[in-house]
Amino acid sequence: MGDAALGKLMLQLRSLYGGDHEQALLQLAREIGAERTAALIEQARLPRLCCPRCTHNGFYRHGKANNLQRYRCRRCGRTFNCLTNTPLARLRLKDRWLAYFDSLRDPACTVHRAADQVGVHANTSFRWRHRMLDWVKYDRPRTLQGIVEVDETFLLESEKGNKQLVHRRARKRGGVARRRGISAEQVNIVVARDRTGGTVDFVAGRGALKAASLDTHLLPKLERGVLLVTDGNPVYAHFACKAGIRHRGLNLSQGIRVEGDLHIQNVNGYHSRFKEWLRHFHGVATRYLNNYLGWRWAIDMRRIDDATRFLRAALGVFTT
Ligand SMILES: [Zn+2]
Repeated sequence: MGDAALGKLMLQLRSLYGGDHEQALLQLAREIGAERTAALIEQARLPRLCCPRCTHNGFYRHGKANNLQRYRCRRCGRTFNCLTNTPLARLRLKDRWLAYFDSLRDPACTVHRAADQVGVHANTSFRWRHRMLDWVKYDRPRTLQGIVEVDETFLLESEKGNKQLVHRRARKRGGVARRRGISAEQVNIVVARDRTGGTVDFVAGRGALKAASLDTHLLPKLERGVLLVTDGNPVYAHFACKAGIRHRGLNLSQGIRVEGDLHIQNVNGYHSRFKEWLRHFHGVATRYLNNYLGWRWAIDMRRIDDATRFLRAALGVFTT
């Protein structure tokens, strides 16, 4: 906040002495909160800011709006700010964002409880949750190396929150699959983890695992010379053979869980933690599953230890 704005507020405070001074103080606190958030946003984004239309990195200051500095591109004239084209663009009430990021660090804090704590409507709380998580999911290691454990787990497909149920009638919350075994009602989540703790996870589609999704999501993440360790699902053997990757499938059906250094206990541990953590949410919509995977990953890797780091991650600025 500039000196002039602060002076104006102080004058307002004095003139509102009486029943309204509390309101004026609250307004002052909100203004300071919004300015602090705006400063953190600028700090995170300004070093890499460029014109959203032509990507030119020459621009000049062009007024201020909603606590944020506006800029104008020197080449094409487009105006923008540090939130333009980010998931947080046009979200209001910046004074409450850091408190909301704090609430997101506690999965037991439901959408409704976070709304009450922070002082926003429940619909706003839900919208904020997913906007704030939208880019957090892109924080992943570039590659995995050495011994890489891979395994898949399944979640019952859910259209929670979807008004138009295209695929089938709504199932009650926490329901069970109608068919036994793996079917298209189940969403396949693959986790790959190396021995340095580097972890990649992705939604591999509905039903049984297909080699094509490993080609798309896993192959680009594997360094040369990795040794893939799996549960012996033939899809992994097929994928590894085609890609020229060394592979060891454990014969779990014969009770062989460990062969020397080779096991998949780290990924299975990751699956368990993820599923246990998901229970807080009483079922999550499949279309948001990637957000939840990214959120869980960021917690597991200690990437969002405080509200400021969380805000930076939400803007795609990750700690190295
Ligand atoms: Zn431009």
